[in-house]
Amino acid sequence: MSKCLDFIKPGVISGNNLIKLFSYAREKNFAIPAINCINTDLINIVLESAYLNSSPVIIQFSSSGSSFFIGKEKCPFNSKNSVIGSVLGAYYVHKISKYYGVPVILHTDHCCRKLLPWIDGLILESKKFFKKNGKPLFSSHMIDLSKEDIKYNVKTCSLYLKEISKINAVLEIELGCTGGEEDIIDNSKISNSFLYTNPEDVCFAYENLIKISKNFTIAASFGNIHGVHGGNKIELKPEILMKSQKHIKNKFDLKFKNNVNFVFHGGSGCKKSKIQESIDYGVVKVNFDTDIQWANWKGILDFYKKNKIFLKTQFGNSKSRIKSNKKYYDPRSWIRNGKNYIARKLDSIFEMLNCKNKL
Ligand SMILES: [Zn+2]
Repeated sequence: MSKCLDFIKPGVISGNNLIKLFSYAREKNFAIPAINCINTDLINIVLESAYLNSSPVIIQFSSSGSSFFIGKEKCPFNSKNSVIGSVLGAYYVHKISKYYGVPVILHTDHCCRKLLPWIDGLILESKKFFKKNGKPLFSSHMIDLSKEDIKYNVKTCSLYLKEISKINAVLEIELGCTGGEEDIIDNSKISNSFLYTNPEDVCFAYENLIKISKNFTIAASFGNIHGVHGGNKIELKPEILMKSQKHIKNKFDLKFKNNVNFVFHGGSGCKKSKIQESIDYGVVKVNFDTDIQWANWKGILDFYKKNKIFLKTQFGNSKSRIKSNKKYYDPRSWIRNGKNYIARKLDSIFEMLNCKNKL
């Protein structure tokens, strides 16, 4: 039986190899988790987990996460900082990923209209990188114009797809809106009707994009929400994806049941059954952010609770008046505990996406 490493190499993959991997995922009925990373600790634990689960993985940066990566989180938003942060993060992933032996898709997350200068800056950098290395800096970029008119959305994305296809990168677009809040994307107050895409709109986007290149994926919303909260949950309706696939198959008389690579935003807190159903309808990428943030924090909190008596003073505790507490407050111990909890969460995510033992 073929496996991923029969046709792709460890390290950052792009272009035809990436599309091949997505087609393979559709064929074998699995999806690849996409984890938002804001520092090297997160990148390292995502790679370590992918290695231990023998799975490909997606590392993605948001614009504000990129600023955070270079310590510019307190500066007012500036697309330059985000470009520098994304570029440095990307270089790190390029250098380190092959040592973990896993194929990595390097991606940038939501880019709404006002953030386009961020992506423009990254495409410029990617072109320079392509000239030198024959591959793009990022495997793929997302452009999220879901709040704009569909015609403007698809037209603008078509121009970007044309541009980035030249450097073998892939474009993710969004149709319908993802609810909730993530970084600077706040859709927490929009009407629920925007959270469900129309299959005709998916078909319209597919028809326009496929003329340019097959290097695209579509995040079509079907009730997806960013973040996990205790309020009223809106119902996930993966059947929207099934209807969209059917519509496209019939309209263009295509051979396969699923022809579109779909992306699932807001995977955190979702039921396994809904995620698996969406994979049946062509989802190849599922985004996780909040669940990873929570796992990280819970690991640190539990470390504190367990070692409280050693964490109040630099030396001396209820067991000894003079003994140093260094091994407890050394960041390597509590950061590692956060990473252990993330790893546990990631194990369950790889399992849920049928993504284990794929290399
Ligand atoms: Zn998202």
